[in-house]
Amino acid sequence: MRYIQGSIVSNFRVILTARRSFLDSFSAMMAVANPNGPKIIAPLLNMSKPQIAATAKGLGIGEHDTWSCYRPITDNGSVSPCNQCDACRLHDHAWRAIEA
Ligand SMILES: [Zn+2]
Repeated sequence: MRYIQGSIVSNFRVILTARRSFLDSFSAMMAVANPNGPKIIAPLLNMSKPQIAATAKGLGIGEHDTWSCYRPITDNGSVSPCNQCDACRLHDHAWRAIEA
């Protein structure tokens, strides 16, 4: 079993648990406690949002197939991005950057 951690390169400045040193230490602790337990992988850790958008585009994933939002809007069981928070703005910026 693998646990996929979704931190990206810009997260480590504000989210201490998004740092490689934290993930490596936490993984080592988990391996001692449960050698056959889940493994943490963080494939986006060294990538910027535009790099992630470019990778997604290369895989045939479009801008509107993904979103990232700190304040998602729920309405009758559906969830959508607010299009106003920092995460929404960074998502939009990433896709604009790879179009340039
Ligand atoms: Zn948002």
